[in-house]
Amino acid sequence: MRFLADGMLGKLTRWLRMLGCDVEYYNDLEDDKLIELAAKSGRTLLTRDQELFRKASTHGVEAFMITGATETEKLAEIAERFHINLELNSDNSRCPRCNAKLNSVSKEKVLDRIPQSTSRFYNRFWVCPNCGKVYWQGSHWRKITRKLSEAKKLAELSSSSR
Ligand SMILES: [Zn+2]
Repeated sequence: MRFLADGMLGKLTRWLRMLGCDVEYYNDLEDDKLIELAAKSGRTLLTRDQELFRKASTHGVEAFMITGATETEKLAEIAERFHINLELNSDNSRCPRCNAKLNSVSKEKVLDRIPQSTSRFYNRFWVCPNCGKVYWQGSHWRKITRKLSEAKKLAELSSSSR
């Protein structure tokens, strides 16, 4: 899935990138510019702004209006609409910071870039070829997977209530 997210969706952008979605994000562009970029790149515009949503639709740009209040609700609605798998597989993830596809690397290659305790406890690492940030499934991992399974439950609930 290829998306373009408006400036209000920074957090959601990071989640979607972790899930492997290709999401461009701008927090400093005018509505018209966002619509133009979405049209040119063939990306679906994600927005919380009703006016932007309407404008995009009148210009024939595919757009999706995010209405959820929490990150979990937002993830659930977008997953349901675009059939996004809410299981995290780091081999498919994109860098939450810059959207480049992550590469799996051996521990030896990143030893000088990770804390010593991390190298003791973890064996799988991914690196962003663009910004160089190193990722691993650390102690925050449980929180991430818990949030995703909550979103999954919500998405299932709302699709079965229809
Ligand atoms: Zn990066």
